Amino acid sequence: MNMIRPNDSGPRTIVVAGGAGFVGSHLCENLLQQGHRVICVDSFLTGTEANVEPLSNFAGFRLIRQDVAEPLDPGEPVDEIYNLASPASPPHYQADPVHTMMTNVVGTARLLDLASAHEARFLQASTSEIYGDPEQHPQREDYLGHVNCTGTRACYDEGKRAAEALCYDYARTRGLDVRVARIFNTYGPRMRPDDGRIVSNMIVQALAGEPLTVYGTGKQTRSFCFVSDLVDGLMALMNVSAAPDAPVNLGNPQEFSIAELASQVRDLIPSGSQIVHRPLPEDDPKRRRPDISRAKELLGWSPKVSLDRGLPETASWFALHLGHGPIPQTNRTSGARAAGATA
Ligand code: NAD
Ligand code: UDP
Repeated sequence: MNMIRPNDSGPRTIVVAGGAGFVGSHLCENLLQQGHRVICVDSFLTGTEANVEPLSNFAGFRLIRQDVAEPLDPGEPVDEIYNLASPASPPHYQADPVHTMMTNVVGTARLLDLASAHEARFLQASTSEIYGDPEQHPQREDYLGHVNCTGTRACYDEGKRAAEALCYDYARTRGLDVRVARIFNTYGPRMRPDDGRIVSNMIVQALAGEPLTVYGTGKQTRSFCFVSDLVDGLMALMNVSAAPDAPVNLGNPQEFSIAELASQVRDLIPSGSQIVHRPLPEDDPKRRRPDISRAKELLGWSPKVSLDRGLPETASWFALHLGHGPIPQTNRTSGARAAGATA
């Protein structure tokens, strides 16, 4: 669908559900810097006051503190909705799995209703977890996935799959303009120290001189996207005039084993941390790398920040945030393997 909006080039009123979170706060900040009005809707389940506090300096920022599964009435016209409301880290989304499922199903339906009522564009933050433990590598958007619908990751994976189904049903039955981003592992400043995902865990552990926890053998792989690249991709997907008729992968195709990541972190932050192995969580995907051909073609988007640039920036942010001294400049590049620029 290709809806021309009267104010396409001017400031818009944009709801960011989940705007107090890691990705959402960067997105809000970018939108505010572009002169838009931003209504952040967040329950602060995993989001933080520290993430939204600087946003309050923008006149166009408004915060609604509520659960997205509850009825939402912003009381003013809305042009666009980004739905990022969902815990994203496995320990956090598994802490209350029923709530995670309801957030993604009921919450997404509520936000789609709001978009319908306002004829607003809708962007869903979906996930590479849609592909489960993939049998196709790299993962293209037409791969239907390999998900265990009864396991401990199902509350998130199946919740996100149901949310995608809802998006396309609203498009088909109500003419809604929807865009679905399948986000691959993203990292950067403003992740919570207790987030539980790999990059934040390892940086926090290394800064504290504690052992780096590698789950399983460490041979499993992920592809890490820096948060600024992801935010650029999300905004490009929202702003492209013709809504793609299918989801779009957003991620960095540079693939690393978890063991490689651990050694990069140890080179970057040489605090003597050892590596300890812990049991591999249930249904942990063995390999993950996005095929981003569709994003390149439709959005002209590809990531710019390689791990050897994004990891030191993230580590420096954590060092400052957690009250450690600055990371020596010499280590900022010595730990980087010859990864080159991203595709
Ligand atoms: P995050 O946990 O930092 O942010 C999620 C935000 O949603 C938080 O502010 C949280 O308080 C809020 N939230 C959660 N449940 C809510 C509810 N029921 N009502 C209102 N607010 C609620 O996670 P993130 O990494 O910033 O992820 C943002 C989005 O991107 C999520 O939807 C996630 O599934 C998706 N995503 C992220 C990644 C990644 O690597 N960061 C990868 C794939 C998908
Ligand atoms: N992992 C790890 N140590 C940690 C946290 C995670 O080895 O302290 C592994 C995890 O088992 C997975 C990968 O790192 O194989 C990425 O985990 P994360 O929770 O960041 O995201 P996922 O892609 O699994 O959702």
